[in-house]
Amino acid sequence: MAPRRRHNDPQVNLNLNVRGMAPSATVAINERCEELRKQHRRIFKLGLGQSPFPVPEVVVEKLRTNAFQKDYLPVKGLPELRRAVAEYHRRSQGLQFTWDNVLVGPGSKELMFLLQLVYYGDLVIPTPSWVSYAPQARMIGRQVQWVQTRPEDDWHLTPDQLEALCRRDPSRPRIVVLNYPGNPTGSTYSVNRLKEIARVARDYGVILLSDEIYGELHHRGQHVSIARFYPEGTIVSGGLSKWCGAGGWRLGVFSLPPSLGWLRDAMAAAASETYTSTSAPIQYAAVRAFEGGLAIERYLWHSRRVLGALGRWCAARLGRAGVTVARPQGAFYLFADFSEHRKAFRKRGIATSDEMCAALLDETGVAILPGREFGRPPEELTARLAYVDFDGARALAAAERQTDDTSVDEVFLQEYAGGVVEAIETMVRWVEPAAG
Ligand code: GLU
Repeated sequence: MAPRRRHNDPQVNLNLNVRGMAPSATVAINERCEELRKQHRRIFKLGLGQSPFPVPEVVVEKLRTNAFQKDYLPVKGLPELRRAVAEYHRRSQGLQFTWDNVLVGPGSKELMFLLQLVYYGDLVIPTPSWVSYAPQARMIGRQVQWVQTRPEDDWHLTPDQLEALCRRDPSRPRIVVLNYPGNPTGSTYSVNRLKEIARVARDYGVILLSDEIYGELHHRGQHVSIARFYPEGTIVSGGLSKWCGAGGWRLGVFSLPPSLGWLRDAMAAAASETYTSTSAPIQYAAVRAFEGGLAIERYLWHSRRVLGALGRWCAARLGRAGVTVARPQGAFYLFADFSEHRKAFRKRGIATSDEMCAALLDETGVAILPGREFGRPPEELTARLAYVDFDGARALAAAERQTDDTSVDEVFLQEYAGGVVEAIETMVRWVEPAAG
């Protein structure tokens, strides 16, 4: 008889007993950067997509006064917060979500995981896409269907692509993820495109998971939700992490149509067996964030001004160095294509996006993430840059003092987003050493 394996037997390879998974790329690059900084290396953190801005003071104040809230809250969320979220959707997009169809969770990432856990269907992911959609599907054993988008389509899913995929197996249950303004591209869909995609989704009864976590960071404040055109089949995902600068607070929300009440209840059941409920003080503070008002609008207006100007400057500077970048329209990401430099890179021993990003970090201290992590082929020389390595509180304060539209110019960016400017200049010199 074979000897039984014992968990404390050092001879046994314990890896046999855990799922073969690596940590999320966004989380891993952040931790790696912190380690390197501890070794006193100059590191430019363009890896993790974390808002550079502080949480608005009115929201922090609300958290302060609610620190005493200690009871478990209902698993679906604080009713007051669910009402504030439904009202926010009505005010900002004219959407008619009822408060009882809003679910609150510890980050939208966790809610996405729960959705996949309870829903037996494929996950359709247009690439490039955020690093965690596919690993979540794999952890649960769901099938992923990738749709490779093209730079000439601004890296967007086209209605024809969706139609072709659905036509192959029309009755197959599937969730299609759309993320706009998008991570990692920073670009967003036109209203016409959203309408066309909505039409195909309706024809095939597809569930859309509309990840609008960056909606409020549309650089012109003109975000449009696809739920306007397909309300009966769209789940809108959002939270405080990006527009409210509160990633570490872990507060996400899903808003579902009434027809998906069975999904909402199944997710809540899974939540009740795992995290029970979301942090109470954070939920009370989140009510203030979703209520909006002048202070929040002012904060958003200046955040968008700074991000818009910085994104455009970075894209233009990289463009002049032969690095193609999709036009930044929202969020704080650029998706850069270095393939014009493929030949020169090959001579430097670089043939994949992983090798490119590893060499860049090693040789210059600039941390960015390889396109492969976003579902792109390994040899495609693409990468995501998060232009967030600057003191957002200082930049916001300066932007508030200078309301003239031209004042967030290159001089401003040098002064208040110097870390990012320097990182981009460093990348340009690294890409074109001969031109340097
Ligand atoms: N969403 C952010 C990113 O893509 C960070 C957080 C995360 O991935 O969980 O970098």
